[in-house]
Parts: sequence; structure tokens; C-alpha cells
Amino acid sequence: MNIYRTHKLGELRAENIGETVTLSGWVATKRDLGGLTFIDLRDREGVTQIVVPQDATEEMKETISKIRSEYVIKVTGEVKERFSKNDKIATGDVEVFITSIEVLNKAEILPFEISDDANVNENLRLKYRYLDIRRPAMMNNIRKRHDMMMSIRNYMDTNTFIEVDTPILTKSTPEGARDFLVPSRMNEGKFYALPQSPQLFKQLLMIGGVEKYFQIAKCFRDEDLRSDRQLEFLQLDMEMSFVTMDDVMEYVEGLAKTVFTKVTGNQVNYSFEKMPYYEAMSRFGSDKPDVRFGVELKDLTSIMKDCGFKAFSGIANSGGIVNAIVAPGQATNFSRKVLGDLETYVKTYFGAKGLAWIKVTEEGVNSPIAKFFSEEEMAEILETTGAKVGDVILILADKAKVVYGGLGALRLKFGNELGLINKDSHKFLWVVDFPMFEWSEEEKRYKAQHHPFTSIKEEDMEMFLAGDQMDKVRTNSYDIILNGFEIGGGSIRIHDRKVQKVVFEQLGLTEAEIKEKFGFFVEAFKYGAPPHGGLAFGVDRWLMAMLKKDSIRDVIPFPVTNKGQCLLTEAPGNVDIEQLEELSLESTFKEEK
Ligand code: ASP
Repeated sequence: MNIYRTHKLGELRAENIGETVTLSGWVATKRDLGGLTFIDLRDREGVTQIVVPQDATEEMKETISKIRSEYVIKVTGEVKERFSKNDKIATGDVEVFITSIEVLNKAEILPFEISDDANVNENLRLKYRYLDIRRPAMMNNIRKRHDMMMSIRNYMDTNTFIEVDTPILTKSTPEGARDFLVPSRMNEGKFYALPQSPQLFKQLLMIGGVEKYFQIAKCFRDEDLRSDRQLEFLQLDMEMSFVTMDDVMEYVEGLAKTVFTKVTGNQVNYSFEKMPYYEAMSRFGSDKPDVRFGVELKDLTSIMKDCGFKAFSGIANSGGIVNAIVAPGQATNFSRKVLGDLETYVKTYFGAKGLAWIKVTEEGVNSPIAKFFSEEEMAEILETTGAKVGDVILILADKAKVVYGGLGALRLKFGNELGLINKDSHKFLWVVDFPMFEWSEEEKRYKAQHHPFTSIKEEDMEMFLAGDQMDKVRTNSYDIILNGFEIGGGSIRIHDRKVQKVVFEQLGLTEAEIKEKFGFFVEAFKYGAPPHGGLAFGVDRWLMAMLKKDSIRDVIPFPVTNKGQCLLTEAPGNVDIEQLEELSLESTFKEEK
């Protein structure tokens, strides 16, 4: 028998009444009431009420009087029916009248109260994460994370995937982010890169004949952080041979449903819609749309071509677009101040030049730009947008990127702030057929939108090989979206060396660069590469989306702040000159005085 406990603290029920039990845990609260002392004793499974009887020995009373919150204690006593039952906790029918008590360890006064209700500053929670984890809500998140991992591993194993681990100290992987570098002591002047993903290795595993691979892998990307992104993150990485897009998506959909049910307790009774990238952009202004609500973008470009409003016709006739969204029922709520704030928002974050609006009222339309349109044009605007009396139409005209960015963000803002999203609902979606290339204005060259190993759609191959309209070339790629979060993405890969070569060329890589960066990889493709494809989930973001948390930090046991700092360990920290010397490094950093 365990000397510390016969039961966990979430376990005792009415059936246990009369039994003698031993319990251990943390003192959550202690209350003195008319000669009786009550202690709520907590462990990871729950809370049990402990009662110190009036006739306790003096020694016991003395011990109790010194006990404070978060002391670790062990008690023995008898389970009795509780006089006033507490239906909020599982053990609420009973209490334990103790006959002995032992303090296993004391605790100093804590920096914050261990309670889900306490409103604690996040930085303090991160500094004392081990105390934060004692809170039932955080403990629940940790447990959900575990449930998720177990359910992933079960699913993958059942579907005959083999788990293979790949190196952390490795070479750069082209996922488009900045690398974390690790200097090599044994190879002076040389660096390892931490993996941005196991992409190259998993493709090599396919050449190695593994056929179905998975791994729950740590990945590292030195990017600016956001509420749904951390420097190091977990990927569920997978790859399969002899498959098409549909095969990969079928496995992944099954997995997403299984894990969702395990974590949330809800079933997913629908097949995921597959939406082409261009459709997602033009309808929702986003490649990861939250399709739990409408407010879709409407294209007014053709109406504007001959209109009298030069700002719009000019853009419509020179390759730009004019799009609108409707804020339902907001004609009276959206004052000039609110509209001004919305305009500032799209100007600041998306580089829009202005935001036009039209209010539809009982008396007709009300808008500073109404005078520029004929009656027919206005009627067309109303018809295309579907705006009704009481609605506000918001219009952006610019390059597609600015219009989609701005209206896509306004759409989400309305969804959240005007209560248009049913927060209890969930919607999975596939976004497919992403373009291969993205023009980088800064670098004046094409960059791979996904990574350079993504295969090209058969229909677009001719265009690609001709070097024609490169930004229209589409790939066999797919992202999986949950409630507007991109939780995973992947593609069918290029397995033909000739095509791979052209992609590298289009990306502006010279022979020497290809050899230096991916020599080993290109070499491997000489020896019989099977057709293959795969996908990776961002495990943390996936869990965050399932649990509907606002911050990815809530589902990661030990996260860093937005500045990439671990407040608990105080990493990143300083290093000694000797350590740098050993690595043949010198720091050019000068502390500002
Ligand atoms: N390696 C890719 C990523 O990290 C996923 C994939 O293509 O399988 O986004």
C-alpha cells in the first residue's frame, strides 16, 4: 500500500462513507468555523474537504494552527456524509474527519493565489509557471495536451505510420523563416541550424522506403511572435508514399476528427469542404477563413470601371480591385467616429488609402461618395452587396493584396465584435491549390509560397515550364483550417528531378547555391524517389483552436513571451567570454549606456 494515500482527492463518493482513508495534497484553503477547522485539500484530480474535529488532540490543533495555504500535508481519517453538500465538486457529498495529520512540507506565501478566478498578471504566471500549473484550468490544458498526443499516436499507429525521429542539430530547412543557428565547437566557423521542420528528412525517409512516417517534432523559427506563434513549437509531421492529395487529406481528416472528439468530447459529423485558394481569398479575403459566419467580400470592380468616382474607376482600370463587405444592421451604430476608426485601422495595418462607406437607410442611401454614382450604379452596388435597410457597406479599392487584407480583417473584426460567430460552433475547412510562387517586392524575385519541394498541378505545368505567368502557377497543396486558424498544411512533393531543377532556377538559386543548400537532397532523388506527399500540423495552435483559447501560451507548458524570453529561467542569458572563445565567436553587441 502507498504510505501517502489510499485515494486521490477527486475520488471519494457517498459509497466510501464509513471507510478510513489516508490522503495527501496541497492545502487550498483553511477555514475556522465555530471550533471546527475545514481544509480543502487539492491534488491534480480534485479537492476533498477535510474536517478537524472539535475533540482533536492539542498536538493536532497546534499543527493545524500553523498550516497555511499550499502546505503539503498527509491526513488519515474517516469518510462521513457531508452536512451541507457541495454539488460543484465531485467529492461534494462527503468530508473526511481526521484522526492524524502530518506536514510533509511547508510553503512560503505564494506570489499569487492558486485559483482559476484570481486575475493574475500573465508575466507573473509565466515566472512561476510551476505554480500556475497547479491551477485547475492550466492543469486541464496540460492534460488535454496529453490526451491529444496519445490520440495522435494511437491513430497514426493504427493506420500503420512509423514514428521516426530526426536530428535537431542539422542544416537549414527552407520553410521561409529565419534560422536559429548553433555554432559548432568541433568545426570552427561552421554552424548547425535548428530545424524549421523535418521536411528534408521526411522526404529522405520516403526515398528510404519508410512509406508512412510520422513524428511529433520540435521545430524552431526565429520569427516575430504573435498570440498564435512561438519560437519553438511542436509539429505533428507526416509523410506518405504512393499517394495523391485526396489520400493524404482522407487520412488527415480522419485524424483531425478523432483528435477533436478526444479533446473536446464533440463529434464532427461533416466532411471538410475543399476550397481553392483563389476562392478563399476572393470570398473571405483570407487563405484561412473562419467560415462560421458570412459577411463575404463582394466584387464591385466591373461596376466601378466607368463610374464617376475617379478614385475607384482609376484603380478598377489599372489592375486593381474594388471590393465591399456589409456590416449588418450597423447603420445607426456606426457613427462617423466609428467609421473613422475603421478607416485608420485598415490604413495602419494594411496600407489602404481610404475606406469608403454607404449607409442604407429607410430614406435611401447616405454616403459622402453617393453623389458620384448614377441611380443604376447605386442599384447595382446594393444588389451585388445584398445590403438591406439598416446595413453599412464598406468599400476598399487598391491592389488585391491590400483589399483582401483590409476587408478580410474587418470581416473578422465584425464577426467577433458584432457577435456574428456562434462561439460554441466549430468548422474545419481545407484550403487547396495554393500558388507556387509569391513575388517579393523587397527582393524583386519570386519566393516559394510553401516550400520549393511542392509539386505543380498538372493543368498548370505547361505554363510553369514555359516560365509564363509564374504567379498563377498552382500547386498540389492543402492547408487545414479550424475556425479561422491554419492548424496544418502540406503538399504532394516534386519527385521529378527535372521539375525540381526548374523550381530552383525560378527561385533564383544558382547551381552553386543548390549544391551548398540541398546537394545531399538533390543527390538522393537520383536513386528512385517514389511519388510522395505529406503534411504537418502545428500541435500547439491546433490545441489552442480546439480549446478556443486566445493565446497559444495557455496550451504550452513552458512558453516564452512575445519578446522570446522565458521569464522562469530568464533565457536567453549571457555567456562567458571563454564560452564564446571556445566556439571561435566574438560578440559585436554593445550595451546601450
Ligand atoms: N514542412 C511543412 C511545414 O512545416 C509541412 C509539409 O509540407 O509537410 O509547413
